[in-house]
Amino acid sequence: MAPSATNESNGTNGTFKIQFETFSNIVNGKATPTSKTRHGINPANKKANIEVPVATQKDVDDAVAAAKVAFQSWSRTSIGERREKVVAYAAALKAHTAEFAKLLTTEQGKPLSHATHEVEASAHFLDGIARLELDDEVLEENEDRKVITRHTPLGVVAAIVPWNFPVHLACGKIASALLTGNCIIIKPSPFTPYCGLKLAELGQKFFPPGVFQALSGDDNLGPMLTAHPGIDKISFTGSTATGKRVMESASKTLKRVTLELGGKDPAIVCKSVNIAETAPKIATFSFLNSGQICVAVKRVYIHKDIYDKFRDAMVAHVKTLTMGDGMEEGNFLGPLQNSMQYEIVKAFFNDIEKEGQKVAVGGTLPQSNAKGYFIEPTIIDSPKEDSRLVVEEPFGPILPILLWSDEEDVIDRANNTTMGLGASVWSNDLDEAERIAKRLEAGSVWVNAHADIDPRFPFGGHKQSGLGSEWGVSGLKAYTNSQTVYLKKRV
Ligand code: NAD
Repeated sequence: MAPSATNESNGTNGTFKIQFETFSNIVNGKATPTSKTRHGINPANKKANIEVPVATQKDVDDAVAAAKVAFQSWSRTSIGERREKVVAYAAALKAHTAEFAKLLTTEQGKPLSHATHEVEASAHFLDGIARLELDDEVLEENEDRKVITRHTPLGVVAAIVPWNFPVHLACGKIASALLTGNCIIIKPSPFTPYCGLKLAELGQKFFPPGVFQALSGDDNLGPMLTAHPGIDKISFTGSTATGKRVMESASKTLKRVTLELGGKDPAIVCKSVNIAETAPKIATFSFLNSGQICVAVKRVYIHKDIYDKFRDAMVAHVKTLTMGDGMEEGNFLGPLQNSMQYEIVKAFFNDIEKEGQKVAVGGTLPQSNAKGYFIEPTIIDSPKEDSRLVVEEPFGPILPILLWSDEEDVIDRANNTTMGLGASVWSNDLDEAERIAKRLEAGSVWVNAHADIDPRFPFGGHKQSGLGSEWGVSGLKAYTNSQTVYLKKRV
């Protein structure tokens, strides 16, 4: 029977009681303190959060050694047994939603209702991925022989996670790695280390020591993992620049890599849309999480016949969005997550005056960030196509809207980027929408929706938005080696 979600003493490591006041690395089934500690900052008030460990090379070596030992037996369990444990773990996370959500808002800044949604979605992804099937594939079967492809686990996976969705992005990796029989070491971002450590702590109730570990540290830790010869795969989500460094380092030992990187998603709005319904949706997909989403809408191309009305409807909606501390009810936008990101986004605001850009709404920076890293949602009306705002990923609440009239031209402009993560087309003419959608160079293309993700469906980037995919069956396969077995029926 699967362990109970709420019974703290009913797991593999029964004495492990989860609490949310102290934070340790999780190595070989134990909470492992480090001699040096550091802390994250609550971005809504710049107060220091609780101390967290700074993992050393020895901690990495210990975790890898424990994972290697654990892999011997974990990889031989049946997929059914592993599924049961991941499903039970998902239920346990769901049962702890309130505690995780509060912790997430405190470390990441997003409104508590959005943090709650992230934790619930994470449990849903754990559960949904755990229920996927990864059967052997029969390639040939006749009197003489049977040939099958098996999907065998890789060994030790290091999961490197960013700070924008620290729970959700970690959980996709956890479910895929563990279901396929690998051991996993989670490395949260130094900006948001808290929930990642607690995810692993909670995991100790369900998985044998060494199967599910977590290491938190400073900027040295990521490179220690990508260089470690005992690690077989890096599942990385973060910026394109870091992704390239990860791939370079992983190449030294030919580690498998999955890279989920940056995006510059276009939304193409056709003239047949219902403006009153569509404009608020697109504004929401642009400013949710204060624009800090890999698949946020980052460029909006609006058909010339409806441009003014659509812009005005977006502006009207943006004016209703409230901003403030995520712990205060009713806020839609929290702060930017950290000072580094705040400075990056500020530079896009500085371009407004420099380039004489037209502000449709917002456009001013706060006098100071003494109260937290808040920046108001801003729409720039028809900036130059080669402006930084149209070309680069601000990863913050500033959005360019642009006008189009010719279908070929707008497709070219939408594809004129090194990124290729997501894209959407909005139209009541489904033939038109599908025709445009199929020409867009992106890993996920939505019609009349955006960022509509599901644990059953693969997610990944084209071009410099990534390599490989996570989630769905193809996501699972990325945590395995393909093995072709030739079974000759007679000697
Ligand atoms: P980042 O690249 O700065 O950091 C991501 C993670 O990598 C962190 O855990 C960090 O500590 C670690 N890291 C940093 N340098 C490293 C190195 N040399 N070797 C190994 N690890 C290293 O990214 P971020 O600022 O945390 O996240 C924002 C970016 O992530 C944006 O570009 C966003 O679009 C992208 N992102 C992509 C997806 C996706 O699924 N495609 C999802 C979320 C975010």
